[in-house]
Amino acid sequence: MNRVVLEPLATYERDAVATAVAALLAPLGGMSAFVQPGQTVLLKPNMLAGKAPEKAVTTHPEILHALIREVQRAGGEAWVGDSPGIGSCEQVARKCGILAVVAETGARLAPFTQSRPAPQPASPDAFQHLELAREVFDADLIINLPKLKTHQMMGLTCAVKNLFGALVGMRKPQLHLQAGSDKARFARMLLDLAARLRPALTVVDAVVAMEGAGPGSGDPIEVGALLAGTNPLAVDAVALELLGLNPEDCWTQKLARAQNLPGARLSEVELCGADPIRLRPARFRPAQATDVSFGVPPVLHRRLRRSLSALPAIDKQRCRGCGLCVKHCPPAAMTPDPLMPRIDLNACIGCFCCQELCPYGAILTRQGLLLRLSRFLLAK
Ligand code: SF4
Ligand code: SF4
Repeated sequence: MNRVVLEPLATYERDAVATAVAALLAPLGGMSAFVQPGQTVLLKPNMLAGKAPEKAVTTHPEILHALIREVQRAGGEAWVGDSPGIGSCEQVARKCGILAVVAETGARLAPFTQSRPAPQPASPDAFQHLELAREVFDADLIINLPKLKTHQMMGLTCAVKNLFGALVGMRKPQLHLQAGSDKARFARMLLDLAARLRPALTVVDAVVAMEGAGPGSGDPIEVGALLAGTNPLAVDAVALELLGLNPEDCWTQKLARAQNLPGARLSEVELCGADPIRLRPARFRPAQATDVSFGVPPVLHRRLRRSLSALPAIDKQRCRGCGLCVKHCPPAAMTPDPLMPRIDLNACIGCFCCQELCPYGAILTRQGLLLRLSRFLLAK
């Protein structure tokens, strides 16, 4: 269950991708271990925004192409769906090259537009009311296709975080609001979501990943790898090792480890294929820290919030005043302005949705004084 395969792949050239995907799936029993003839298979790439594939914001269309072909060879019917942050699924799929692959392969584009309530979890601690895209219930199985990227709020977006796209449209900001500035609560919701969706397989596009201010405004970096596994937590554990990141800096992994969820620790993972340390990039820029990593009493945290955390700031030179950030800010902490929106930092919950969705990379991460000081001292 915790087997994860790591396969080197340095190019998106079609034949090379097909060969690497076949090699990646072999230790897991091949695609026929997951897909039976006649089954409908929902492939869930990262389609955050309509950006060209080389920007590394979305799952590369050639990875999707190879997976669709694998599903079809196993006798399955491939659906491709997501609920992008901005724009319709069709618009985003066209811009990021996914629509062309869907048309070429005869797969079905299945935009997430309608929701159904997910079954209530047994645990009273779990998020009780999650409504998910209809297609995740209609398909026989889900294949999760994340892009490996940093994430300014959660630290990393990979196998677990990619499943947040199963929430349709405005349900995403509603959940941000429900969690508020409590990142652990938001991470718990993501873990609940992964437990309910239970993708049969996750295949990660880490050929070119994203570093820095991910998931929307970071920079592409060549990593040269694909990862696959059945347990999203185990896949994320290997992804963190591949990038040389501390699991404690990824909120979902930190919480999963604290709860002893199976596969959250690298020591529990059965690793096949390449050695993650050998494939690790020479340098990788993580998302900027947004919290001090040692315990601060909650009362002090509330009082010194601006100094102990990181909050968004607008880059005057880059902002074009388009207002997209204002429209998508979950607590409505932003006010439109013809020149540049204003942010009410007292109302801001630090979700960084504005940074994720700004098409011009105009939202910066501003670390508070005590946060910078604590990071400086820890680095010594
Ligand atoms: S910060 Fe970005 S999204 Fe917001 S108004 Fe400026 S350009 Fe538009
Ligand atoms: S200003 Fe940005 S970080 Fe703050 S709540 Fe709004 S979207 Fe989230």
